[in-house]
Amino acid sequence: MRAITILGATGSIGASTLDLIRRNRAEWRVVALTAHSQASELVRLAREFRPEIAVIADESRLAELREGLAGTGIEAAGGGQALCEAAGRASDLTVSAIVGAAGLAPTMTAIEQGGVVALANKEALVSAGDVMTAAVARFGATLLPTDSEHNAIFQCLQAGRIEDVRSITLTASGGPFREWTWDQLRTATPAQALKHPNWNMGAKITIDSATMMNKGLEYIEAHRLFPVGLEKIRILVHPQSVIHSMVEYRDGSTLAQLGPSDMRVPIASCLAWPARMDTPCAPLDLVGLGTLSFFAPDEERFPATRLAREAAQAGGAAPAVLSAANEVAVAAFLAGQIAFTDISALVAQTLDSDLPPAPQCLDDVLAVDAVARVRAAEMLETTRVA
Ligand code: NDP
Ligand code: MG
Repeated sequence: MRAITILGATGSIGASTLDLIRRNRAEWRVVALTAHSQASELVRLAREFRPEIAVIADESRLAELREGLAGTGIEAAGGGQALCEAAGRASDLTVSAIVGAAGLAPTMTAIEQGGVVALANKEALVSAGDVMTAAVARFGATLLPTDSEHNAIFQCLQAGRIEDVRSITLTASGGPFREWTWDQLRTATPAQALKHPNWNMGAKITIDSATMMNKGLEYIEAHRLFPVGLEKIRILVHPQSVIHSMVEYRDGSTLAQLGPSDMRVPIASCLAWPARMDTPCAPLDLVGLGTLSFFAPDEERFPATRLAREAAQAGGAAPAVLSAANEVAVAAFLAGQIAFTDISALVAQTLDSDLPPAPQCLDDVLAVDAVARVRAAEMLETTRVA
């Protein structure tokens, strides 16, 4: 039996992970499950998967969690410190699936245990950058990329040496607004942006897919995960989301990973790594698909990938500022406070202000994140449409 912790168990990645665990119940012992505020859902999952501990980050919901788990023998805890304490418990695999910078501290705690971390929480890696990769090296931890593109690249890299890589191509669906004009984009509503053509995901990443900031974050994530120069990382729009990414080697061979648009495939690759496991995912029907198409990204209509590239080139605090400002902007868009096109504008404005010094430790990263959120909130006051 292998021990597993799922940070962000009540989310979309959490649900996909638990679906795979449920199908292979005898192989797994669940150490910890965590959520932010969905106490009743966490109770339901804890009663089914019997973890040692269930943690709710929002302490105001702890009483509800405690009540729901009374008599089960499962510990119930609340707050940020409890989250990190749970993330630090011995386990064979930690799935890092909290959304945004909120996942940073518990993910770092899991890394400091020197175990295997399946990383979906790309914002944590984008913000922490070298601080996280240095901790991975220092504590002898292993990061398994769970994001479908990075999982694809990770798989393609098994066939060659990193120094022989000529380029890495991240594919992007282009999101629901791929063919919209700028004037249409200005009036895009949250309901329209939340309808992703291929993937069923949490709200924040779905909006990031619509703005293409998701691909911008993934560009930085790829640079952090795979030691190749930024100039070797490319973005290609591929609306069918069948090819999840590609690696081109110097001899002219390009390797790609293909699969259905179902996160259970890359998650299964992390759960079983370095072996393979069965999933219930339908095999690809390439004849049914008939055609795969590819387009260059349009940075006029979708400036987010340019902003991310510039932040990656600037380095230091810039990626953390980009990601924090984006979190503020996405929340404001979802709350109806700003227009869709203001999301990238707000990120650009926040990046234009003086950047804090490069973070050297987790506390520095959290401080940069906090400063960037304040700045973005100030900018929001001048951008607010409603
Ligand atoms: P969801 O919004 O569906 O789930 C987020 C999870 O994090 C929930 O369990 C939520 O708890 C918890 N959470 C939210 N805020 C906090 C907080 N402040 N403190 C502690 N826990 C918190 O997100 P997704 O599952 O879609 O995405 C998770 C991560 O994986 C993101 O970084 C995303 O970019 C990445 N990812 C997701 C993919 C997908 O297909 N969904 C694909 C590739 C990457 P609660 O439910 O109580 O709010
Ligand atoms: Mg992805």
